[in-house]
Amino acid sequence: MQIKDLCTSCDCWTITTIEHDDKTAKFTCTHCQNTFDMPWDTHTRFMIRSIRYSLKSRTKKYPELVQLKYVGDFVKLEARPDPPKSPSCK
Ligand SMILES: [Zn+2]
Repeated sequence: MQIKDLCTSCDCWTITTIEHDDKTAKFTCTHCQNTFDMPWDTHTRFMIRSIRYSLKSRTKKYPELVQLKYVGDFVKLEARPDPPKSPSCK
């Protein structure tokens, strides 16, 4: 499976692939090829789910994330304050 995640190695948002057997999940950043293992347990599965879940609101805040589509894509995000609660008129 693939998720969009912030890679701690290249410090970019990238497509991260996750392969797992019953014991270990291997995360690979498709941009810099950094890999790390996590135990494939409920904690990791929950983490993946929450990353996916939070992506919607994150994409709203950082529309650049829409550009992440294919393996190897990467987006460097500037830290940005949260948008104001009430939408301003344009
Ligand atoms: Zn990376």
